[in-house]
Amino acid sequence: MSETPSIFSRIIAGEVPADIVYDSERVIAFKDINPQAPVHLLVVPKTEEYANVAELAAGDPALLAEIVTTAQKLAFEHMNGQYRLIFNTGRDAGQTVYHVHAHVLGGGLSEGSLAS
Ligand code: 5GP
Repeated sequence: MSETPSIFSRIIAGEVPADIVYDSERVIAFKDINPQAPVHLLVVPKTEEYANVAELAAGDPALLAEIVTTAQKLAFEHMNGQYRLIFNTGRDAGQTVYHVHAHVLGGGLSEGSLAS
């Protein structure tokens, strides 16, 4: 189910190129390779210890908070500060990378729909 190292760890290590928009001690963010909105960023903890957001919340709530505040900061830099924050959890929900990550979507989304 999960690759080790994950594709995101390979991006963090510089082995796979990505359009990086934020890089701190514990968090990185880059543009999604297959955008589902006019702006689609991924905010990723550098550790791949946590497969999903519930594991992260239980194991390192401060790191989850940092991901959320990073998403907010990037939303002001790349959109108008309004955004959709998604953590897919499990294959049936569309999760394909089991290294927890937040999708930050914005730049013009339709009203009233949860789908991107
Ligand atoms: P998930 O489906 O697990 O919630 O999200 C994984 C996301 O990672 C997808 O939206 C997919 O497009 C993105 N992704 C997968 N491989 C790469 C890659 O090599 N580079 C970038 N920038 N995004 C990727």
